[in-house]
Amino acid sequence: MESKKKCCAFCGVQKKLSREHVFPNGVIRKLEEGMLSLNDKSDKVFKADLVVKDVCEPCNNGILSEIDGRFVKLFEDNMLQPIQPGDNVEFEFNYNDLLRELLKISYNSARASADGFKAVAALRKYVPYILGKVNDAPDVMLRLLIVTSSNRLNTETNQIEGTMEARLLRSCKVSYNGPQHSNFMIRLLAFNSFWFYLIIPLKPVSSSKIEVFINGFMDSYHLTGIPICKTMKSVSIPKEKTTYMHPSLIEGMSRKRA
Ligand SMILES: [Zn+2]
Repeated sequence: MESKKKCCAFCGVQKKLSREHVFPNGVIRKLEEGMLSLNDKSDKVFKADLVVKDVCEPCNNGILSEIDGRFVKLFEDNMLQPIQPGDNVEFEFNYNDLLRELLKISYNSARASADGFKAVAALRKYVPYILGKVNDAPDVMLRLLIVTSSNRLNTETNQIEGTMEARLLRSCKVSYNGPQHSNFMIRLLAFNSFWFYLIIPLKPVSSSKIEVFINGFMDSYHLTGIPICKTMKSVSIPKEKTTYMHPSLIEGMSRKRA
């Protein structure tokens, strides 16, 4: 007797399912190489080997590996080395390639998380866009925050003692309870210094409600980065608009993990 096969989370077809990493293999491998050069810090930096087991081989080795490949190149060229304090950032990208990958990682990470049902439902509607069957995801708002490494200052000696490197990999939800919060979901995807926010309406909302939500979010978080729009091919971020790595940033994130 053949056991009932489950459906692929992307194409929806019942097939033999395979394992897919939540984050692209190429990103994890590059980060691990970087970790080896640090002194045994890898245990407290990230846990990037999360996998999902509900993706068919044709999706996994086909379209998903293509969009991973383009993103890994973008990651290697721009995000692999943490940005240092005082540096300006020039970032060139293909908007659709970037957004498809960020939505795919968010969808994977929501499925890998025990309490991610609501996020899975909200993200599933972007599967046709991720797979390239539709050309845009017009209701998703993308923002980029640059988080630089920081100098550790010894306040007794006033000497700089090493740095807190912006080395991490995260995909999590951001908790926010301000105006209009029930109509939106916020996800954070952090790749070293590049922290992307995805702001996703949970149902169709008017532009005035979007404005109320975004203004409230920016007022309460301060660190929300700058908007990345689909017409953009590059962005320049001056050092004044970056922030720096500090423990409360990380603590805030780990409490809001999902
Ligand atoms: Zn599939």
